[in-house]
Amino acid sequence: FVHQLADESVGMDELLISPLRLEPEASLPLPLDLYGAGRRNSAGLDLTVEPMRAPLLAAYAATALPAVPEFDVKTTSSAYQTSAMSYQKWSKTPVHERSAILRRAADALEAELPRFCALMVKEAFKTWGDSVAEVREAADFLRYYANEAERIMVPVALPGPTGESNELRLTARGVWVCISPWNFPLAIFMGQVAAALATGNTVLAKPAEQTPAVAFEAVRLLHRAGVPEGALQLAHGPGDTVGAALVAQPGIAGVVFTGSTEVARIINRALAAKDGPIVPLIAETGGINAMLVDSTALPEQVADAVLQSSFRSAGQRCSALRLLCVHEGIADGVIEMIRGAAKELVAGDPADLATDVGPVIDRQAWGAIRRHLERLVSTSKPVTVIEDSTQSATNPIANLIPPSAFEVAAVADVQQEIFGPVLHIVRWRGDPAAVIDQINALGYGLTLGIQTRIDSRAQALAARARVGNVYINRNMIGAVVGVQPFGGEGLSGTGPKAGGPHYLARFCAEQTVTVNT
Ligand code: NAP
Repeated sequence: FVHQLADESVGMDELLISPLRLEPEASLPLPLDLYGAGRRNSAGLDLTVEPMRAPLLAAYAATALPAVPEFDVKTTSSAYQTSAMSYQKWSKTPVHERSAILRRAADALEAELPRFCALMVKEAFKTWGDSVAEVREAADFLRYYANEAERIMVPVALPGPTGESNELRLTARGVWVCISPWNFPLAIFMGQVAAALATGNTVLAKPAEQTPAVAFEAVRLLHRAGVPEGALQLAHGPGDTVGAALVAQPGIAGVVFTGSTEVARIINRALAAKDGPIVPLIAETGGINAMLVDSTALPEQVADAVLQSSFRSAGQRCSALRLLCVHEGIADGVIEMIRGAAKELVAGDPADLATDVGPVIDRQAWGAIRRHLERLVSTSKPVTVIEDSTQSATNPIANLIPPSAFEVAAVADVQQEIFGPVLHIVRWRGDPAAVIDQINALGYGLTLGIQTRIDSRAQALAARARVGNVYINRNMIGAVVGVQPFGGEGLSGTGPKAGGPHYLARFCAEQTVTVNT
């Protein structure tokens, strides 16, 4: 063991680790904790959602997806005019009143939790556990940004020479375009909209084509809570027409976008090409997220964290683990444990409470992941394939891709974000800092997991990594609003962290007022 650590360039002074170290056991069935506090009963049901079984299933039976009217790009200019007119009043509405409306919306959302969960299970194929967590996250965004707006939109007196007063004020900017993805159709949609509205801006919101119904119902809920209809308008339609028209609309004050790096670039270029004022872009994009595991890590903890991070939500989280870098000294044991635990996962119908991994969003996504799997099958060593994913065409649940993992030779072999339940595993030896450098070289910078029981090493590696969110000795998904502000750098985004104390300022203009008294 000590030889192994010396090989990893660990000094003897760093060996401040607890003596507890369990031996890996092949195919150890883990107590999976895929849904936070959730535990399974003997029938394999998720005990977090199980107590809500009756209202959830009743809502599922009673809820139909609404038909959402398509936005006509020819009306972009008049939708903007409506938003700009509404801005005159909404921006002057006292911040406490705006915040009260958002808090009312949060309460209403929680009261309607089963219906919104049902909408997400039906439209986005989310599992019940993921849906419950998402409704709560959306409510958290509403309340957090309501509180934050009240905190930051208060003029701050600054010290100055005698005979002069100085004040810094944050004000709204105007009409914001909010463009969101399908993978968090409620939480990200609501987060963007709530941030813009809380700060006194008005909004033209474009949800992803795959999930307009959740967005439609979210907008109706906000209107019912008191957001004026002109202050929040839904623009449902394809990104390359409706999204592009909104971005091109003269006069918009800013764009907040969450989605792929590729589309963020398109929007960035479109904004840069516009005449008139420079329009700010907040972009939160994808990642090739890695977890570095050294030989002191606890294999059981690693396996649990890997399963949650790679396979929960069918891997359709921007924060999901794509690349597990495990020290060769413990790699066989860790891989064996992942294989054993992964076999316990239930991939299937999202409407079934026992399902851990539902289908991916659509046929196009399914095809892209499948093509990647076919390449991996021919070039890499399969570590665990719950069932042969390449046979999924015949699976009765449409677009299901059961979780799988493959060994690849090097970090650089993974150059593309594969948005599904596919894990790539690399063995390493030598200096872990060199592995972090290889991960940095991929150019993304969203999440990183570190599993080690050497505290000084964990901190040094975290400091070396160019990523927005580092998770040490736990899973690397499920950032909590106000607790783990979330967002990346490099190819993963422009930086400001959703659910963090600096986020709302990006939606504001700043004005310094100096008075000669
Ligand atoms: P996407 O294809 O980039 O689409 C995102 C949004 O952009 C959709 O509403 C899309 O509309 C719209 N869009 C597409 N082309 C556009 C254009 N030319 N102009 C304006 N808007 C346009 O991403 P996705 O497939 O929905 O979501 C998955 C991606 O989001 C992954 O890369 C994931 O990592 C990333 N993500 C990042 C975060 C984060 O916080 N960093 C969170 C969640 C997801 P249509 O769908 O209607 O075409």
